[in-house]
Amino acid sequence: MFKIGCHLSISKGLYNASKEIDSIGGNTFQFFSRNPQGFKQKEYDDIDYQKFVEFNKENNIYMPLCHAPYTLNCCSKDERVRELAKMILISDLERLNKYNNPYYNLHPGAHTGQGVEIGIDLIAKTLNDVVNEDEKTIILLELMAGKGSDIGRSFQEIKAILDKLIYKDKFGVCLDTCHVYSAGYDIKNNLDGVLLEFDNIIGLDKLKAIHLNDSKMPFNSNKDRHAKLGEGEIGLEAFYKIINHPKLKKLPMYLETPCDTLEEYQKEITLLKAHYND
Ligand code: FE
Ligand code: FE
Ligand code: ZN
Repeated sequence: MFKIGCHLSISKGLYNASKEIDSIGGNTFQFFSRNPQGFKQKEYDDIDYQKFVEFNKENNIYMPLCHAPYTLNCCSKDERVRELAKMILISDLERLNKYNNPYYNLHPGAHTGQGVEIGIDLIAKTLNDVVNEDEKTIILLELMAGKGSDIGRSFQEIKAILDKLIYKDKFGVCLDTCHVYSAGYDIKNNLDGVLLEFDNIIGLDKLKAIHLNDSKMPFNSNKDRHAKLGEGEIGLEAFYKIINHPKLKKLPMYLETPCDTLEEYQKEITLLKAHYND
């Protein structure tokens, strides 16, 4: 079963987002835990949640992927920023445990000049401080394009974080096609080779979700600029191979393309579904 969806706003609630994704032919979606640029968050709404669960059951909608705010930085050189990240993580995970939501996607962090090694140590420390053995949510570290001082630009960096975590089974990885292509992994011409490398370094059992984005910027540019599928450097043919790859095709896939309307997302979902082989 193809698990395909896109990023949606939950400003009108989770139930509404489920209805929206269903109306455009998707069966899962991604949402921000709170305002992505800040930290504002709506109150937990039990009635909305019950309607959402009911609707999902009746319409075969898979649990959505929750994305942490971009502004959260687990490895800032500023201790107050790291403490804030901890608070947000604790509060988001607490809520997700109420939602019974399996996955929480996180940008590992930016070392802000301290260097990769210290950055990796601080990320692991922050995560070890907030995750205990009772955690029900799996935290996905997203592979990054490598702009600025972002950590997670290579399989090795992600592996180095994972190695330092205490509760390893509470963590996984999310592969963003735009990010890895910009980071220098040629998923366009050598998908098998990239996945083999992923498996050798991280282990494909850790890969839990895919972000499907084309890239406005060229291969290995370390720039993070998403494009609509087929309107970037990766191209549609590569996406048809990605969604059908035996090692990937069962994973949930989420569009984070620059679509302004549901209709624009619908076009991409329809195109992908037409090229997916069950
Ligand atoms: Fe992301
Ligand atoms: Fe992403
Ligand atoms: Zn991105």
